[in-house]
Amino acid sequence: MKFNKNLEDIKIYEAGKPIELVVREFGIKPQDIIKLASNENPLGCSSKVQDGVAKIISKMSMYPDDSMIKLKDALCSRFDIEHKNLIIGAGSDQIIEFLIHAKSNSNSKILINSITFAMYEIYAKHVGAQIIRTSSQEHNLDEFYELYKQEKPSIIFLCTPNNPTGDAIDTASLMKFISKIDDDTLVVVDGAYMEYAIAKDKSRSLEPKDLIKKFNNVIYLGTFSKAFGLGGMRVGYGIANETIIKELTKLRPPFNITTLSLEAASIAIEDDEFVKKSIKLNFDEMKRYESFAKEQKVDIINSYTNFVTLCFNNTQNSTQISNNLLKKGMIVRDLSGYGMNAIRVTVGLSEQNDKFFELISEYL
Ligand SMILES: *Cc1c(COP(=O)(O)O)cnc(C)c1O
Repeated sequence: MKFNKNLEDIKIYEAGKPIELVVREFGIKPQDIIKLASNENPLGCSSKVQDGVAKIISKMSMYPDDSMIKLKDALCSRFDIEHKNLIIGAGSDQIIEFLIHAKSNSNSKILINSITFAMYEIYAKHVGAQIIRTSSQEHNLDEFYELYKQEKPSIIFLCTPNNPTGDAIDTASLMKFISKIDDDTLVVVDGAYMEYAIAKDKSRSLEPKDLIKKFNNVIYLGTFSKAFGLGGMRVGYGIANETIIKELTKLRPPFNITTLSLEAASIAIEDDEFVKKSIKLNFDEMKRYESFAKEQKVDIINSYTNFVTLCFNNTQNSTQISNNLLKKGMIVRDLSGYGMNAIRVTVGLSEQNDKFFELISEYL
């Protein structure tokens, strides 16, 4: 059977290895497995969310409220924006898909950082668009600008803080960069980890409102999967000017967010205390990773997220190390697929991190 030619060179995205598969492959009990591979919130989600979702569980039989009015109201008051500036996706992933379909086809180019979130490339391939990458590991906006002038991309992705490296772009430079981009090029600012950057460093923090007030060609993406602890509910959002939102909405399937997910996200966005607690735990524990890396003479990238990236020297091999850890029930992310001899580790609970330090010490 013949399929769409665009699919030929797509590598199937490997999400962090599911606990269920480790149970099956290595015969380890689920309670003995620690997953630090998908940047999930180690505290789970807020108990208010759990109680709220339990209360409406019987609504499962009905289609969701497709106006999403409760969640939209909550996001609008949180970000001081209007409904017309907002689109909700099944994860911000889905919004990435919408915007690539809205702006690109097989004649288009899409400019991304050399090492960045894998889904940009996968969705670009769906439409046959060509991916252009910078060469520096961290976002180098001068290089982005040179490539923008040369290649005339339809979309530029800026992932800040960046996944899988954890570094973040300085806000003043980012604003200056966007001001030099023409109105027909869509600039995507993916802020999946922005809650962490805001807590760590104001000079690398962004408010979506400041972006859309100034620029008509920018969309900001946020997600409930990381700081809010709702990875399993699949809710993300895009904030942009009305014209962009209108086009993206044409691509949105009806009922793309389930009733339970809408409720969970609406409650989560109001529970500041839970997010604060998650962020404090994250950066307290991250200090321990930094000391551990120093002791072990492993490079660690300064992170504005809920994960750390450990870069090995050439006597160490990230694939071997992560496979060895996996056999012991510790799931981390090998970054060899990104061309890095490194692993990405989600900062976990104190005892999970202890276990990680203990296990990896054997292989360093
Ligand atoms: C996790 C993540 C997302 C989106 O996650 P969803 O679960 O689809 O909302 C988007 N961008 C980056 C960089 C991420 O790490």
